[in-house]
Amino acid sequence: MTSNPSSASTYDVVLIGGGIMSATLGALLRQLEPGLSIALFGRLDDVALESSNGWNNAGTGHSALCELNYTPLRPDGTVDISKAVNVNEAFQVSRQFWSYLVETGQIASPRDFLNPIPHMSFVWGAENVDFLRRRYAALQQHPLFEGMSFTTDEGQMRQWMPLVMQDRAPGQPLAATWHPAGTDVNFGALTHRLIDLLASKPGFDLNLAHEVENLTPTGDGQWDVAVRTVHGGGERKVRAKFVFVGAGGGALHLLQKSGIPEARGIGGFPVSGQFLRCTNPDVVSQHHAKVYGKASVGAPPMSVPHLDTRVIDGKQGLLFGPYAGFSTKFLKQGSWLDLPRSIRMDNIGAMMAVARDNMPLTRYLIQQVMQSNEDRLKALRDFVPTARKEDWELITAGQRVQVIKKDAKKGGVLQFGTEVVTGGGGSIAGLLGASPGASTAAPIMLTVLQRCFADRLPQWEARLREMVPSYGRKLGQDAALCAQVRERTRTALQLDG
Ligand SMILES: Cc1cc2nc3c(=O)[nH]c(=O)nc-3n(C[C@H](O)[C@H](O)[C@H](O)COP(=O)(O)OP(=O)(O)OC[C@H]3O[C@@H](n4cnc5c(N)ncnc54)[C@H](O)[C@@H]3O)c2cc1C
Repeated sequence: MTSNPSSASTYDVVLIGGGIMSATLGALLRQLEPGLSIALFGRLDDVALESSNGWNNAGTGHSALCELNYTPLRPDGTVDISKAVNVNEAFQVSRQFWSYLVETGQIASPRDFLNPIPHMSFVWGAENVDFLRRRYAALQQHPLFEGMSFTTDEGQMRQWMPLVMQDRAPGQPLAATWHPAGTDVNFGALTHRLIDLLASKPGFDLNLAHEVENLTPTGDGQWDVAVRTVHGGGERKVRAKFVFVGAGGGALHLLQKSGIPEARGIGGFPVSGQFLRCTNPDVVSQHHAKVYGKASVGAPPMSVPHLDTRVIDGKQGLLFGPYAGFSTKFLKQGSWLDLPRSIRMDNIGAMMAVARDNMPLTRYLIQQVMQSNEDRLKALRDFVPTARKEDWELITAGQRVQVIKKDAKKGGVLQFGTEVVTGGGGSIAGLLGASPGASTAAPIMLTVLQRCFADRLPQWEARLREMVPSYGRKLGQDAALCAQVRERTRTALQLDG
């Protein structure tokens, strides 16, 4: 399965899109089979300029240490931690893969893209305090969450998050949890490191400012990939034995164009986001945590408000948000026609059903879009009572496209997770959706390998275990392995827990 990329325009693997997903898949494949010819096509002038860019996402290494939406309350008053366990398990896989790259010297320093920042949940009001206490009680018994602390003591909270507690009005019950194993990840920097790694060896063609316009099956299990040169408008066609559509918000269009039956009936619902950013060193120095609160009624799960310490290119800043919005674009640098162009006969029913059944979400988005700067500042002051307008600037985040799928009962449902779509007998895979997102790039790409390279897995297995020692096993069911993996990755990645 090898070919010379420069002599013929046939590649073993074509990666579409220059984000964290393509970069991770390329890096995994390169480790598993160094002889593969791989080409990457990205429509912008550099990699990591869309959702994977450092300031276009919140950089939370999602492991359910602080995100309350992963632990819903059951009707009987107990807390369901199954989703939290899955999210944490997935992040442990990413931690292992990154550790392997650091241990083998392929990434010089984990500080290039990853920093230990405690993860906290913070709530107010008696009902929420009660929920957080139950959540903590359920999680702290689990080996993946060992090390979590809970408090209702304001003195302790002042130590954990002085900026949040400063000048806070008295009289409200408060509670917080704190975990030292939290991380802030610059997924843009990681994407660059992985692409540099690929580019440092022969057999990798990086084609920036190249937009993939069409995907056509050749009839013998391969794909013709039609590419347009963005500057100059030239056109090219290359052939691929395997195509990965890692085009972020652009993936739905390309999967639809590929004609694979697996993409039929799927629609997309774009949700844009904005953050308030603070770079004033006096304010930034008073906060060292990612503090997640509770979502407001009707808000989609990814709109949970949070105040984050960010470390981008060695500099610390604060991020608050996200404020959701609505735009018909599927990419931050996309077209207003993206949404209308995605509507097809096969998905219009599901899309209409979702519009009909999600009125609270629609109301929430309208309310978010109508917000004034004063409203945004008010939401920020729930977290930072002393916030001054002049310290915070509004920035536009990446665009998310939530997946809409057909549903036998409801006609269509809106999903907030990530969906791997594969077709063509495993010759094409694409990624839709955005949550838990970049944090789970490594386990998601392992799923792509399992579904599209099943025949090669037996010979790759030993190498996969070297890169991800827990491969094929569940950390949540093996406390000793869990402790071993956490310790090894803590050391390799210079983390705190
Ligand atoms: C507001 C916000 C906050 C988030 N917060 C977090 C977080 O805290 N933690 C977390 O883990 N995840 C988070 N995410 C999710 C995370 O950012 C994404 O899951 C991840 O970056 C997606 O990576 P990707 O490679 O699939 O897509 P992207 O990074 O969007 O890359 C897509 C690439 O495809 C290219 N492309 C598109 N169409 C074409 C085409 N036709 N031809 C060639 N190239 C094309 C684009 O130019 C781009 O290079 C957040 C996302 C948003 C929007």
